[in-house]
Amino acid sequence: MARSYVREARRRGLGRRRERIGPIVGRLSDEHADAQIALRFRSDLELLVSVMLSAQTTDTNVNRVTEALFRKYRKPEDYLAVPEEELQRDIYTTGFYRQKTKAIRGTMRVLLEEYDGEVPRRLEDLVRLPGVARKTANVVAAELGHAQGVVVDTHVRRLSQRLGLTRHDDPVKIERDLQRIVPRADWARFPHLLIWHGRRVCNARRPRCDDCALEDLCPSSRLAAALPGPAELRSAELRSSAASGRARAGSRSRSG
Ligand code: SF4
Repeated sequence: MARSYVREARRRGLGRRRERIGPIVGRLSDEHADAQIALRFRSDLELLVSVMLSAQTTDTNVNRVTEALFRKYRKPEDYLAVPEEELQRDIYTTGFYRQKTKAIRGTMRVLLEEYDGEVPRRLEDLVRLPGVARKTANVVAAELGHAQGVVVDTHVRRLSQRLGLTRHDDPVKIERDLQRIVPRADWARFPHLLIWHGRRVCNARRPRCDDCALEDLCPSSRLAAALPGPAELRSAELRSSAASGRARAGSRSRSG
């Protein structure tokens, strides 16, 4: 599937990945200037715990739980000072609470023993923490201002594939492809842009191609597929159709 979108980009004459990435980042930045991490935290430690809790649940759910959790647990020692069952109860509604409790307590032990209770910045240190996989480590490092990779979650995966930026399904390979074309200065911001675009416009089941700012850069645009005729003609029709779609959406949101 992803492979065919890369080929389709070539077939439609949309330009190479490296040529399209600049306009893609630029337009998404204009469209989603407010794109940022949705988890709420006030310290490096709270960030790390929030990201660990966010596996298999929504950011909203995590924020609901951490509001009380972070009033009770302020430093690594606090997570080890209570019985395991108590921490399990406190994070119960985030799901997988047994595994998460084990991971959080194991991580707190390592932070105290090896990092003076501080959250490390380097990816290779973060992935050594119990229960911290590459995605979690990438999110934490990026939020701490030390992005060393590109976060690939379900939205980033879907949009990278639809936009023909990768031929792969495996998140590690997708990350490698994105690292090759996305400017390093944008590694932290780019995933947020794709995540917000995925939530607001390019939904998994019903992408709103007629309201999409990337429509003329996207090999999986449904508008292009629906139109007959030569590529140049399709492209001109598409641009005008997408522009009027966006204008309609703009006036809807201004009047709404
Ligand atoms: S044109 Fe459609 S498929 Fe492509 S990014 Fe936009 S909404 Fe998604």
